[in-house]
Amino acid sequence: MRIIVLSDIHANLIALKAVLEVAGAADAFWCLGDVVGYGPHPNECVELVRNLPNLVCLAGNHDVAAAGKISFSRFNPEASALLSWTQDHLTQESLRWLRTLPETHAWGDWFLAHGSPVNPIWEYVMDRRSALAAFQANPAPFILVGHTHQALMYTSQRVDMFPEARYPYLDEAIPLQPRMVINPGSVGQPRDRDPRASFLVLDTEEETLSFSRVEYDIPAVQEAMRQHAMPHRMINRLSDGW
Ligand code: ZN
Repeated sequence: MRIIVLSDIHANLIALKAVLEVAGAADAFWCLGDVVGYGPHPNECVELVRNLPNLVCLAGNHDVAAAGKISFSRFNPEASALLSWTQDHLTQESLRWLRTLPETHAWGDWFLAHGSPVNPIWEYVMDRRSALAAFQANPAPFILVGHTHQALMYTSQRVDMFPEARYPYLDEAIPLQPRMVINPGSVGQPRDRDPRASFLVLDTEEETLSFSRVEYDIPAVQEAMRQHAMPHRMINRLSDGW
C-alpha cells in the first residue's frame, strides 16, 4: 500500500492542495489531526480531507476545541482567538464531522495519534525523553504522531530531526526498522524553519518511508488571513516556518 500521511493542515487550503497535487494517487490517506485552527479556510479543508480515499483522520487538539468538546482555556490567547473565529465560521456539517474524529487508530504494525500514545491529544513528542515515553506507552513497531509541526523520526537507536538532517533524506526512501516514532511535519504551519508544506509517504510493501516538502503560495494564504484580521504573528510565522 502507498499511504500518504498528512498532519496539522490548520485550515491552510492552498498548502493542502499543493501537497495533494504533488503526493499523487495513494491507496489510503492518514491524517493525524488539526485539520482546522489558525488558518482561513476551515470548511474547505474539512471538505477536501473528508473525501480523500480510504481516509483515517484523527482528532487534534484544535479540532476537538473547535468542535466544542473542550474549552479554549488551554490555548494561548492568539490560538484561542483563532479557535473562536474558526468555530464561528464552521458549518454545522463540518462541526458534526469534526466531532466524530477518533483520538487514535491502530492498523497492523502501526499506531496513530495526534500527540502521542501517552496522551493522544496533548502530549508533544519532541525529544528523546518523550519519544522513549511513546515507545513505552504503546508496543506498536511504528508510531505516527503530529502536533509538534516538525518533521522528524526517532528510532530506538537514534534520533533524526529535520530540517537539520533533511537534505540527506528528503524524498529518499528510508527503510522502516522497528521501532520508530515518525512525524510527517505540518502541511499548513511548519515549525521546523522550513516554510514548505510537509508530508510523508509510506510504502508498506517496500517497507520504506519518505519525507517530502512542497512549495506553495504563502503570500496568498497570508493575504486571506489579513482580510480576516488574524493576528500578525500567526500570519508571519507561515513565511518563517516557525
Ligand atoms: Zn497543530
